[in-house]
Amino acid sequence: MSRVFWARVVLGWLCASTALAVEVHDVRLWRAPDHTRIVFDLTGPADHRLLTLSNPDRIVLDVSGATLKASLSGLELASTPISLVRSAVREGDDLRVVFDVRSVVEPRSFALKANAQAGDRLVLDLYDRSPSKPVAAEPVKTSAATERGRRDIVVAIDAGHGGEDPGAIGPNRQREKDIVLAISRELQALLERDEGFRPTMVRTGDYYISLKGRRDLARQRQADLFVSIHADAFTRREANGASVYALSTRGATSTAASYLAQRENAADLIGGVRLGDKDDVLASVLTDLSMTSTLDHSLKVGGKVLSRMDTVARLHKRNVEQAGFAVLKSPDIPSILVETGFISNPGEAQKLSTRAYQQKMAQAIHAGIRDWFLAQPPPGTLIAARKQQGGQEYTIARGDTLSGIAQRFNVPVRRLREHNGLRDTSHILVGQTLKIPAT
Ligand SMILES: [Zn+2]
Repeated sequence: MSRVFWARVVLGWLCASTALAVEVHDVRLWRAPDHTRIVFDLTGPADHRLLTLSNPDRIVLDVSGATLKASLSGLELASTPISLVRSAVREGDDLRVVFDVRSVVEPRSFALKANAQAGDRLVLDLYDRSPSKPVAAEPVKTSAATERGRRDIVVAIDAGHGGEDPGAIGPNRQREKDIVLAISRELQALLERDEGFRPTMVRTGDYYISLKGRRDLARQRQADLFVSIHADAFTRREANGASVYALSTRGATSTAASYLAQRENAADLIGGVRLGDKDDVLASVLTDLSMTSTLDHSLKVGGKVLSRMDTVARLHKRNVEQAGFAVLKSPDIPSILVETGFISNPGEAQKLSTRAYQQKMAQAIHAGIRDWFLAQPPPGTLIAARKQQGGQEYTIARGDTLSGIAQRFNVPVRRLREHNGLRDTSHILVGQTLKIPAT
């Protein structure tokens, strides 16, 4: 008996014991428009293997040396191609999870190492075969505008976080991902009512999209503007107020902005992004001239949104702040990130959870977006054509004055009044629509 033999025995035992220690303590499922994500929470790292079997179609995931301590019966399978999930112990100490599927799917799996926010995870993505699904999920608004060859202004609305990534959590367990999706839907509804505008939702439900994936979706849909909506947290509970951010290619305008950008950029770590999907925006893209003009537009539209938000919320900062937000790094699409408030502040978290406040917030963002595009419509759009013909209209918002509106559209107050048949003494009402004379 040599010492080498004993060393082997001990080593073998060590490996087996560490492998045996792995437990799957939770299993979660998220449905996205084009795929289903299943996440396994592990107590430590584990090797895994993926198999696709047919007759009947099923996906098999083997996890070495793992035991299942979570229930599979609570998974919401209704909107997924999965008909049944079951598990078994394989070869003594391996875990086998079998997914029976109704239609052919393309499985992909990857492991996520433990980080500050989450432990070791195994991620299984089942991609739908039919590529038509994400397109079908996006309602197509065929307007007279496009028929006449005048296109709509496309606004990409990005509800932050989602799925594995809840975003910030409020004192009463309010989740940022839910609040910002609700505000985004309100904003979508408002823009849908506007002739010449077309909203497009980047995230339509509770699932995660990588920061790069969000920018890619906006580009695919030829967005004229990208608006990312958030409600974040700060270490100090007292911090409150709304703010608007744009990208900075140089450094942050304040330590708070830099802190926030770091938090937002960590979303990919929590949401779960495969190594191959890593974001690599080239530095050259950011120094490109087009970026300079895009940034300039981002700051201006951000300023419009900020001044509209002033009427519904206390502003955290009076200027559009800048920091290195990965989600805003589109070289050619003006992009802003709106912090609707601090979910870490009990009062603000409570307000942000109510439909009335979510609507108010959406109305302010909507009004700011309109202010920008009515003044600076992209060429070839219906709004640009209207502006030339003088057929523009403006709906009065809280805090508006006749002289302020006249200034915004660069027309004399007198002409604005005459054009709308308003007498010197007449009051203007919130929600009233004014016709804007041609410039
Ligand atoms: Zn956020």
